[in-house]
Amino acid sequence: MKDLILRRARLADGSVIDLAVQNGRIAALGTLPGAMAAENTVDLAGGVYLSAGWIDSHVHCYPASPIYHDEPDRVGIDGGVTTVVDAGSTGADQVGDFHRLTRTARTQVLALLNIARTGIVTQNELADMAQIDGAAVKQAIGDYPGFIVGLKARMSSSVVGENGLRPLIRAKQIQHENGDLPLMVHIGNDPPDLDGIADLLTAGDIITHCYNGKPNRILTLEGALRGAVRKALDRGVRLDVGHGSASFSFAVARQAIALGILPHTISSDIYCRNRLDGPVHSLAAVMSKFLALGMTLPQVIDCVTLNAAQSLKLTGRGRLAVGETADLTLFALNDTPQIYADADGAAMNAPQQLVPLAAVVAGALYPTQEGNAYHVF
Ligand SMILES: [Zn+2]
Repeated sequence: MKDLILRRARLADGSVIDLAVQNGRIAALGTLPGAMAAENTVDLAGGVYLSAGWIDSHVHCYPASPIYHDEPDRVGIDGGVTTVVDAGSTGADQVGDFHRLTRTARTQVLALLNIARTGIVTQNELADMAQIDGAAVKQAIGDYPGFIVGLKARMSSSVVGENGLRPLIRAKQIQHENGDLPLMVHIGNDPPDLDGIADLLTAGDIITHCYNGKPNRILTLEGALRGAVRKALDRGVRLDVGHGSASFSFAVARQAIALGILPHTISSDIYCRNRLDGPVHSLAAVMSKFLALGMTLPQVIDCVTLNAAQSLKLTGRGRLAVGETADLTLFALNDTPQIYADADGAAMNAPQQLVPLAAVVAGALYPTQEGNAYHVF
């Protein structure tokens, strides 16, 4: 007797499979015997899509943050997202409180630790180099293994003040002192110039807000890819969308994709205000924008599953395979055109919408509001 069987689920490539879950893991997949029984069997009749659980690589969900706060389940399972990665809301001073507050969430919550011990309590957390305390970072990583999965450094003028590239140079040292864990670097207005940032990054480092429309963006004014960014990508640096309230331009994304510069990960940079008021709304909405920009459904799904797990070195997640954690997302693809806005106020017509119907976290199924209306669960 299995815990959960999903029958006739459609994958992003169009094929249809059955999947069985037992003890929180994927126990079998393919065409399962009709006699195989489970506590809960859901027949999706080929009309509902299934993927590995969606991982949002860049959110803000420290409920006690004075600036960028949200509840993990509002940005997680409510939108079909099984794992959220908070990108630097907290540093060493508050990460313990953040960990404690998120233990009751149904969504898996992970953290990229801000190299500034204060996190984003102030907007300029890297303007004072004394806030970067390597010993405090090491202690926090040791105290919360499996929760802190990497580091975050916000490298734009309003954050670093007069410090230029110095916070990133320190971030790279701290990264190296802690087993070369993933480092996500936010880019925005200069100084520091993006060329200087890109030159410091090494294989596996993640540039977030990669399609922002500010002058210090990845494209030159003429629309070519900056040479320093090209070299960084050739070294294995990865691109993360991090849509957010001020960091995503349809024009930049369209031109970059035309040049073959696709994102490795699609993430939202969501928190309560840009969730409720836009322009982010949900990870599904951000993913739908990339479908409208011409990426295929398998490409978009890889950006929130396999690629996200690779970027953040998450093991046992991001793939549909026997033995992996049974984190799954069930969704529909609706042909209802919708107008979307980017962070600069530009509009785009999207012919298809991804609609999350349920999140399965370690085998437990949580239908979304839209999923409840579907009457299949
Ligand atoms: Zn952010």
